[in-house]
Amino acid sequence: MRSKGSWRGHSCLPRRDSSRRLSLDTSVEAAGKSACATSSLRCFVILLLLLFSSDSYGQAIPYSRPVDTAPQAKNIGGGYVVPPVQKPVPRGFAMEIADVALLGLGLAAAHWIVVTKRKRRWLVGLSVVSLGYFGFYREGCVCPIGSIQNVAVALFDSNYRVGAVVTATFFFPLVVAVFYGRAFCGGVCALGAIQELVVLKPITVPRRLDQALGLLKYAYLAAAIWFALLPAGQRQFIICRFDPFVGFFRRTGFAHMLFLGAAFLIVGMFIGRPYCRYLCPYGGLLAWCSRLASRGVSITPNKELDCGLCTDACPYGAIEDMRDVRKDCLYCARCYKSCPREVRLIKIGEAA
Ligand code: SF4
Ligand code: SF4
Repeated sequence: MRSKGSWRGHSCLPRRDSSRRLSLDTSVEAAGKSACATSSLRCFVILLLLLFSSDSYGQAIPYSRPVDTAPQAKNIGGGYVVPPVQKPVPRGFAMEIADVALLGLGLAAAHWIVVTKRKRRWLVGLSVVSLGYFGFYREGCVCPIGSIQNVAVALFDSNYRVGAVVTATFFFPLVVAVFYGRAFCGGVCALGAIQELVVLKPITVPRRLDQALGLLKYAYLAAAIWFALLPAGQRQFIICRFDPFVGFFRRTGFAHMLFLGAAFLIVGMFIGRPYCRYLCPYGGLLAWCSRLASRGVSITPNKELDCGLCTDACPYGAIEDMRDVRKDCLYCARCYKSCPREVRLIKIGEAA
């Protein structure tokens, strides 16, 4: 556990007396806000480009159903309707291993960029790459969020086998969270990335409401496990069925689900990453694991200040009493610019 006085884990020393607030240059804050708005706009444009060009970059899906491997409806007769071909189609084992390797690489990169290099721009680049690959190219599958259900069934049903790839995908981000916090949410998760790129003018959700809504993800987690553990014939993987963004990734889906995804993105312009904060069941697991993390985001780059400028910097309500709340911190690196020490170091670096 990190110590309260450690600058690595926290932004500033505890402060209760507002009269001690330093009169630091408010232009730093203003400059940070305007830079934030510009980069949000840039990200939004990138996201639009990805959405509209995804057909050319997306994985080709063969829709033909070879008659020698599966009988067609006309051969079966009796009004039988052949179920639609699954999307995405299964991959070869080597490619699945490559996906796990890329997941590991992405986690390492997110941690290095946010904790070591402290570069928000690089993180945005990583988010775009992850969204392109894990989202639009891999069509959102397999992802750690959905793998909760596979792992739960495998634990309770001896007839159900879950492969090494799914197991690794499930555990990798959790293990990293135990040591370093939610690096997966920072720049690797496609669902997080698509929301991160649309944050435009985030409002602060009142703390109590934020905390109450945050409990929904645990209820969703419990419901997802319950539905996954139903007898095989009735089993449902609701996390995948109600994934609000997978329709975008696959360029297909029910109209109501596409509408839901669009609604999340529109709301997400003003309430930062609503699916992550209030509904994502894997986010709940990551939050638990990251409570143990001894290293992760530190708002200030070196020595702590007692200025309070970071208090409103986080669009995700993850700064409390001038400290990052590790379980809620989504590794976005937005708060860095609020710290005068960070700005000073950048200026010194530019002048050198
Ligand atoms: S909270 Fe869930 S959806 Fe959001 S980035 Fe983390 S794992 Fe992805
Ligand atoms: S702005 Fe909030 S979520 Fe982002 S890194 Fe800072 S404390 Fe974490």
